[in-house]
Amino acid sequence: MRGLYIHIPFCRKKCAYCDFVSFENSPHMDSYIDAVGKELELYAELFGREAPFEISSIYIGGGTPSLIDGIDRLLDKAMKLYNVRSNAEISIECNPESVTRKKLKSYHLCGINRLSIGLQSADDRLLCGIGRIHNRAQFETALNFALAAGFSNINVDIMYGLPGQDMDAFLDTVRYISALPIKHISAYSLILEENTPLWRDYKAGKLTLPDEDITANMQDEAIKVLNSAGFSRYEVSNFSKPGFECVHNLTYWHNLEYLGVGVAAHSALKKGGWLRSCNTTNIDDYMSLIKKGIRPIIEESAIEKNEEMFECMMLGLRLVCGVDIKEFTKRFAISPMEAYGFKLATLIEKKLLTIDHGHIYATSRGFDILNSVICELL
Ligand code: SF4
Repeated sequence: MRGLYIHIPFCRKKCAYCDFVSFENSPHMDSYIDAVGKELELYAELFGREAPFEISSIYIGGGTPSLIDGIDRLLDKAMKLYNVRSNAEISIECNPESVTRKKLKSYHLCGINRLSIGLQSADDRLLCGIGRIHNRAQFETALNFALAAGFSNINVDIMYGLPGQDMDAFLDTVRYISALPIKHISAYSLILEENTPLWRDYKAGKLTLPDEDITANMQDEAIKVLNSAGFSRYEVSNFSKPGFECVHNLTYWHNLEYLGVGVAAHSALKKGGWLRSCNTTNIDDYMSLIKKGIRPIIEESAIEKNEEMFECMMLGLRLVCGVDIKEFTKRFAISPMEAYGFKLATLIEKKLLTIDHGHIYATSRGFDILNSVICELL
């Protein structure tokens, strides 16, 4: 196994666009860390019987993991139960308003070596419009605390396509963060998820969003600014300084094994064949199943070889370097050219994909319409 994901599903206040599994004012906040610790034990028993494994990354995500205490205790347990590589990347997500100098110091001391801070925008008016409860000044304080605590591998999340955001406002944010002493930037386009407050306001005509062309231009312009500041795009929405690509997320894009624990966490494990599973999204059920010593899985499916191959193409093509032909062939005993013959040849002929240096990857035109390119391989 490569990656371990730990989901912490609590937030001080739900953002207006958020449909992630996270809860405000949950009565389970104090006992949750112990429940996740118990789930780690359940898997350790299972793996102990079946196979040895090694972890190269741990990602504590949410929700807002920095909202609760006991992260150091949980990490300590994971280290004791699993074979975590000494150079493993260990990341935690945090929001600017929920960190203190002391908390960040304790994260660094307990072995966390990568911090992901959710800024989203450096414009306080836009932050307020999407229901974020922090401002730019709080972000700056959090970043300074992080640097003082010893973190050198820091990611900042930003968003574009926000209500009321124009190109200048977005590029102000991009220029601002590209000059900070950080190593990684994730830039996501706002997705209006059904039944979120932002979606309801949009449907009721209470807000307008930048149109698709402007949003696409925002991305193009951001790439230029980030490139000139030394950040390279290595995945659709991710940019890093050389050598600081996110190890944990690369596990997903290379379609490798990972275990997810906590409410709503997903896992992809090799048990004979390729097996995907998902934990319950109901926190009451999660807590009571764990109490009974039962793994809280609500869905488990064996993935057929064809599906696994398609997943490898779909995820791998999100990377600028694309799909490694040798790795694919080793994994499936068939090359991508044999598996996707005519479909692949057509996409190459249309100059949407290309083959070079042992990789199949999207051209810049292909990258712009990646979802439709991937659908052609179905
Ligand atoms: S902080 Fe993240 S997880 Fe929490 S409500 Fe906002 S977007 Fe959702």
